Amino acid sequence: MSCDFLALAQPGVQQLSPYVTGKPISELARELGIDPGEIVKLASNENPQGPNPRVLQAIEQALAELTRYPDGGGYELKRKLSERFDIDPAGITLGNGSNDIIDIVARAFLGPGSNAVYSAHAFAAYPISTQAVGAGSKVVPAIDYGHDLDGMLAAIDAQTRVIFVANPNNPTGTWFGPQALEDFLARVPEDVLVVLDEAYIEYASGDDLPDGLGYLSRHANLLVSRTFSKAYGLGALRVGYGVSSPRIADVLNRVRQPFNVNSLAQAAACAALDDQEYLRRGREINEAGKRQLEQGCAALGLSWIVSRGNFIAVNVGRDAAPVNQGLLREGVIVRPIAGYGMPEFLRVSIGTERENARFLAALGKVLAS
Ligand SMILES: *Cc1c(COP(=O)(O)O)cnc(C)c1O
Repeated sequence: MSCDFLALAQPGVQQLSPYVTGKPISELARELGIDPGEIVKLASNENPQGPNPRVLQAIEQALAELTRYPDGGGYELKRKLSERFDIDPAGITLGNGSNDIIDIVARAFLGPGSNAVYSAHAFAAYPISTQAVGAGSKVVPAIDYGHDLDGMLAAIDAQTRVIFVANPNNPTGTWFGPQALEDFLARVPEDVLVVLDEAYIEYASGDDLPDGLGYLSRHANLLVSRTFSKAYGLGALRVGYGVSSPRIADVLNRVRQPFNVNSLAQAAACAALDDQEYLRRGREINEAGKRQLEQGCAALGLSWIVSRGNFIAVNVGRDAAPVNQGLLREGVIVRPIAGYGMPEFLRVSIGTERENARFLAALGKVLAS
């Protein structure tokens, strides 16, 4: 008799389904029997610019030390971050992507008997990390697909330890303004940790979008998480960071795997921070691509959720699963988000002009067939 290991897993783990990632280009190329170069992937909110040459050079230099363990304290990267954003290095926690930060928070602060509060249509890492440690989830219905911050405050109870908010949110692209954040932070009990996930903040500048780092000095229960995976173009390397009071960082660093950010990633992130031009160019491509996709969707008679990220959730007006299958047959990979409670939407990452055009042409063809 073989053993039922699922039944042996922690109760929270039994309820989990694995995170669905964007289909790899190589996999679809094999399935369709075509060249990977013919595939357009707009599924994982990756940077369409291609790697930053400065980063490639930094990685090449770091390769000479490949036999050594990385700097577990991430001294140089923390120094650079603290300089760039005027923050205390003692408040920085480095992560293997910011997913790791979310997971470390869950392992440090959540467990059976406690709960986390987050919104419907929020990032999938919150339920995964919360359930994996046996904590409860309080999922608050959204308003127009965005966070209902008042509703989230009302959901906090004596067992709540963490509240996850994403600004802008993935997969909806929705956001809230400085006053809303201010009011929210003022009302969260001081023993509830607020994780403000700013994975897309580098794309989202504007007076109506707060910079979470500016609130840290007044709120000792705030942790701002950021990533190098999106605007900085380092998705493959897995580097993210949390910024908080040193007291919170001290707790997180007790749980963190000692070498969670590898040397090549650390070197790359340092070089990426030095190149503001890459970020500026990325924003430019993103804004132009957003207009192109919005115009293209309007021409197809489709609606979408206005987004401040590098992606758009498009309402295809019917079950999106067959539309997604049709797009795959056309060599276009996007992200169906039925798993986020949005079965009629496809999330499309904003690509280059050529990639966006390929997507729009394929979508028009699939919808007409
Ligand atoms: C992409 C994303 C992240 C970060 O992913 P990492 O690659 O692990 O840094 C975090 N939060 C949200 C909302 C995201 O969309």
